[in-house]
Amino acid sequence: MKNNQSYLSIFEHLINQKSLSHAYLFNGLDVLFMQDIVHKIIQYFFCTSPQKSKKGSCQQCKNCLSIKDRDFSGIMEINDPKQMIRIDQIRNLTSVADYSDLSQKANFFIINHAELMNENSQNALLKHLESPADNRYFFLLTQNKYLLLPTIVSRCEIVYFQNNLLLNKKLEDPLIMEFVRLLSIKNPLAYIILTTNLKPKIKEQGSEFFLYALLNAYHKIKDTSEKSRQLILLSQNLPQVRLNIDFERLMEMFCLEVLSED
Ligand SMILES: [Zn+2]
Repeated sequence: MKNNQSYLSIFEHLINQKSLSHAYLFNGLDVLFMQDIVHKIIQYFFCTSPQKSKKGSCQQCKNCLSIKDRDFSGIMEINDPKQMIRIDQIRNLTSVADYSDLSQKANFFIINHAELMNENSQNALLKHLESPADNRYFFLLTQNKYLLLPTIVSRCEIVYFQNNLLLNKKLEDPLIMEFVRLLSIKNPLAYIILTTNLKPKIKEQGSEFFLYALLNAYHKIKDTSEKSRQLILLSQNLPQVRLNIDFERLMEMFCLEVLSED
């Protein structure tokens, strides 16, 4: 699946078949892109135009417009969190989901950067995913599903977003390329770049992005087969790397190890 139309048509089909699942986990590096897809899916769900089954949502009816303006009562969203998502934010988000079905209206819950939920937050969310009420739909958007509890992941249908152009462009990160170049000639500056410049990047973009960018950089720089192999091993351990901070530590250890080789 390469563009938003192919993602959308799958969901439009599910909506037409009335077989939309109660929980989806969107995994990809471009959270804004995934967020846009979710809003388009919801527009399609609520669109009142009789033409919608043929042409996507109409973008003109009252529902389409208010969803576009982010002014729609059926959507609860945690938008662009800058730090850990706390349990009270999850309770606040899901308080609507707790109501018994007094209204038949569907509700959508979106959590952007779901990997920022701490363990308590995830457990608070879990009960909603375990026994979802009718007409409740959860969309969790994350850059790295391995940072979520396995119990959360196993209750969601996972959709991978990995092939968009933006991603490929971002993978060419000059700072990461420079880090790899310095590391490959065992220049200790590599460690300084990692700890001062790249750590904020890991926080900002997620460990999965960072790892892919690293692998990409190794691929472009000669004399790296052994290092690449080690990094691939590292990436296979990612399921155990639950938090970016663990990833940062792993990267530091990896870097020191390379630098101290004879
Ligand atoms: Zn419409």
